[in-house]
Amino acid sequence: MLHDDSTHTDWRARARCAGFDPELFFAAGALEHRIAKRICRACPVRAQCLAYAMEQPIDHGVWGGLTERERRRYRRVASEGDWRLLVS
Ligand code: SF4
Repeated sequence: MLHDDSTHTDWRARARCAGFDPELFFAAGALEHRIAKRICRACPVRAQCLAYAMEQPIDHGVWGGLTERERRRYRRVASEGDWRLLVS
């Protein structure tokens, strides 16, 4: 499993990124970001993963198909803090 945090393990058991190189998700390069985001697009727990990263918040890596920069932007522009409206 890519992300290690024992407090939220239910959805992580179905994470599509398990088995992929974690470097794809934490590298700074655009190519790695594209590959990681492609993996996330077909992940059955993408919504849970994104919610977790947004609510912690987590400021590094690709989570829920969004880079840290994209998550920061959503957090900043979300009306009344409801970022879910922007990423549905
Ligand atoms: S959305 Fe992406 S980072 Fe999150 S669990 Fe799924 S594959 Fe892993």
